[in-house]
Amino acid sequence: MAFKSKYLEKVMKDVINRNPGETEFHQAVSEVLESLEYVVDRHPEYERAGLIERLVEPERVVSFRVPWVDDNGKVHVNRGFRVQFNSAIGPYKGGLRFHPSVYQGIIKFLGFEQIFKNSLTGLPIGGGKGGSDFDPKGKSDNEVMNFCQSFMTELSRHIGADTDVPAGDIGVGAREIGYLFGQYKRLRNEFSGVLTGKGLAYGGSLTRTEATGYGLCYFTEEMLKASGKSFSGATVVISGSGNVAIYAAEKARQLGAKVVTMSDSNGYVYDPDGIDLPLVKQIKEVERKRISEYVKTHPNAKYHEGCEGIWNTKCDIALPCATQNELDAKAAKTLVENGCIAVAEGANMPSTPEAVEYFLKNGVLFGPAKAANAGGVATSALEMSQNSMRLSWSFDEVDAKLKTIMSGIFKKCESAANEYGVPGNYVIGANIAGFKKVADAMMAQGIV
Ligand code: NDP
Repeated sequence: MAFKSKYLEKVMKDVINRNPGETEFHQAVSEVLESLEYVVDRHPEYERAGLIERLVEPERVVSFRVPWVDDNGKVHVNRGFRVQFNSAIGPYKGGLRFHPSVYQGIIKFLGFEQIFKNSLTGLPIGGGKGGSDFDPKGKSDNEVMNFCQSFMTELSRHIGADTDVPAGDIGVGAREIGYLFGQYKRLRNEFSGVLTGKGLAYGGSLTRTEATGYGLCYFTEEMLKASGKSFSGATVVISGSGNVAIYAAEKARQLGAKVVTMSDSNGYVYDPDGIDLPLVKQIKEVERKRISEYVKTHPNAKYHEGCEGIWNTKCDIALPCATQNELDAKAAKTLVENGCIAVAEGANMPSTPEAVEYFLKNGVLFGPAKAANAGGVATSALEMSQNSMRLSWSFDEVDAKLKTIMSGIFKKCESAANEYGVPGNYVIGANIAGFKKVADAMMAQGIV
């Protein structure tokens, strides 16, 4: 990647040299720095303050051993991480991911993205992320509990309701948050809002489960509306069948669209009649089985082994909601050829840089993750507020706030894109709008 700004060029080079092998982190930094070309020109004071060098270096990285015992008495050792990236505008906030692919580079990419996403919500939350290479798939509840308790035994030293508030991500849902919270409470003898995504019986917020998927659709609806379009009557392709995918599908349907695909890491289903969402919830949320089960009761639907083919499905709107780099340039080209008019990212960094470039060049409305999927963390921040006030808001109250926040995020992206002379480019708009607030706070707080 060549930068016009010598300053950004040097920062990028240093990031690559100082973080060897962390390719996802390089990708995330490069994408943000490209957008900041527009800003550093107007603000030479940032270079004098070493602002970008400080922004790309996490405030703290914790890596730790997580030993646990399986149901057969065998000892396993996983690796745990918490990256506390930036606390300029509030306590670190960001999810925990349990997946075998997790290593420091993935957590740093996610933590870096989180800084700008959290800033875009307008709420006082800094950026952080954590996780482990533990795979909850195929483990018993008891094994998952053993792991979570061991993980929290170390993590508890580094987090707190006013310091760092983790939540869920891939592989960390309501069950895992429950075990993690229980262990934190036991260790600290303290009932606090130290985690979000909690169950409703112990401090969770209504709408949190739905928030990322619903928020994604609220953002997409705003983006479509700005171009005189809407979800109504549209055919939608969604990848993934986890928390984000399921609730994106639910809201897209409520807004009048037909969702025709869902996937997991083994393959995808295509249902021309529209995905039967209660069945997907039963398979994935209750039975924890594979999406291939779907076709057993739906003879019209087809299961395809492997994930890439999902983007060959003809659609008006694509919502990638599984994982990073799941949608490449070839997939982008096929989507455009098949008439796709809008893509919004439910997952973090699901589109490769080449795919994003292709969408933007071909006039596809594109909602980048840090804006489009910010509804989850925004609602987590609303959960923190409710915990602090010892109050619980109704579903409709939280949903209304979420809607207002997502519409506000879209407007920030739109107006930053306009201000910097790239109307309709919500990638640059999101990066600049997210960056500006953090930059102002960092400049005000001195060299720390
Ligand atoms: P879940 O664990 O609930 O679901 C993940 C889904 O993606 C599953 O269907 C999973 O399939 C699939 N998947 C995971 N890894 C891969 C892979 N390597 N290749 C293909 N499919 C894969 O996670 P979430 O729904 O919470 O998260 C999905 C994405 O959304 C992530 O990128 C996450 O960072 C992002 N996100 C999540 C937020 C939240 O609130 N939960 C907030 C903002 C972003 P399988 O079951 O086979 O593993």
